[in-house]
Amino acid sequence: MKVKIGSTTLSLVVGDITEADTQAIVNAANSSLMGGLGVDGAIHSKGGPSILEECKEIRKTLYPDGLPTGEAIITSGGNLKAKYVIHTVGPICSGVMTEKEKKLLSNAYRNSLSIAKKYNIKSISFPSISTGAYRCNKKEASKVALNTVINFIKENPDWFEEIRFVLFTEDIYQIYKQSLEEILNVS
Ligand code: ADP
Repeated sequence: MKVKIGSTTLSLVVGDITEADTQAIVNAANSSLMGGLGVDGAIHSKGGPSILEECKEIRKTLYPDGLPTGEAIITSGGNLKAKYVIHTVGPICSGVMTEKEKKLLSNAYRNSLSIAKKYNIKSISFPSISTGAYRCNKKEASKVALNTVINFIKENPDWFEEIRFVLFTEDIYQIYKQSLEEILNVS
């Protein structure tokens, strides 16, 4: 599914984000920035060791206690097609999302987009942050993700050419598609 908002294309696709050809991809990392399971593991294993080296340096210099939830940092893309990887940390949920968890998830998307803009990045792919190991309700998380991205596009018109959600399975794709249709119908 694709929609145009101003001059930005917002797209939803089923796929593997490590194959994405946007200038940047976003990693659903954990605070340690030392890699993990899920999309994090896939990005580090396909991108190669240089990404982890950069993460270690950032830990040492900027975030000795780990990257706080909702914040984002940037590294090169190593061997990936994407030139950059933006690492962000979503909240850990236990099902239905609290207002605080929604705010932290929104911050993760917003801070990723802000850092992309700072690095002159015009196309970016997101996974569905916090809906795997971090167990946030998928429907609620999709609404937070899409509303945050749409608001950022409206506040920064003409900046991004494409913002893409690369969804790993058909079921999460359908959830995002339905949420996007609901959001567009009421706005
Ligand atoms: P979190 O810890 O933020 O929940 P996970 O990696 O466990 O992160 O899951 C987040 C989402 O990423 C899930 O929907 C999962 O299916 C998806 N995912 C896992 N691997 C990939 C991949 N290679 N490309 C895109 N999405 C992926």
